[in-house]
Amino acid sequence: MRIPGGKTLQRHGWYWRGRLLGGGVILGYHRVAEDRDDPHVLCVHPSHFRDHLQVISRHFQVVRPADLLGRSDAAPEPPSNGLELGKARRALALTFDDGYADVMGAALPLVEDVAMPLTVFVVAGAVGTDRFRWDRDRDGFDGRPLTTAELRELADHPLVEIGAHTLSHPDLTTLAPREVRREVVEGRDRLEALLNRPVTSFSYPHGGVNERVQRAVRESGCRLACASRPGLITESSDPLRLPRLWPPDVPGPAFERWLASWTGIRPGGARGGGASSMATATPTERAGP
Ligand SMILES: [Zn+2]
Repeated sequence: MRIPGGKTLQRHGWYWRGRLLGGGVILGYHRVAEDRDDPHVLCVHPSHFRDHLQVISRHFQVVRPADLLGRSDAAPEPPSNGLELGKARRALALTFDDGYADVMGAALPLVEDVAMPLTVFVVAGAVGTDRFRWDRDRDGFDGRPLTTAELRELADHPLVEIGAHTLSHPDLTTLAPREVRREVVEGRDRLEALLNRPVTSFSYPHGGVNERVQRAVRESGCRLACASRPGLITESSDPLRLPRLWPPDVPGPAFERWLASWTGIRPGGARGGGASSMATATPTERAGP
């Protein structure tokens, strides 16, 4: 059922939940690049991404997604007396879906500057190819998947964890059970063979997940999976269906207002914002590829 204004209601719900009780955050990105057309709305401009990291570092302690599960209720912000700010930071994890080469070329150097852990969910069948399927018909487009050598180098980086994102990036909810298992298991197996290490986290392409898909992911041995529905990580979050927030391609102040509207943080620290930030937030959510 579709409720008019349902998205806004949902955001208000998470805002107050975050404001009063805290809750972990997983941000989902795809690319850090300049792409004037960007038909799938995947890009965040490098200067904006740098801004995002600065805002994040002011409000959150950045951890790996698995670390959110044990501390799902990382404390809400302390009272705004200015003295305790920064003592009890909530936890946030950074994720990238698909495995574009610019994650390594553009995002990683900025993430290194602030020493934040990063999880990259990789479409195994696209590694080393010229283009992702959804970019195939774009003239003069230079956004490509990671090469095998780049993926290995990325996986060896101390801040980076590699997760699975299937073999060919289908909406798993549309496939027959055998195909679901093949996409999930072979995608993961191929990454493990390339990287010579276990891959235990997963992201659902297009956010497509139902009971059957989730069972296949669980049976494949993954202990954590990110979905695309917006929300915070709470003590009742299903580790195999973790909500994520999808940052808009905006500079720091707008990003901070947007992040505040979902998580209940106070823009500008102790000085302000509060509930009024709801009104000015950018209402952007997206889920794919
Ligand atoms: Zn994807």
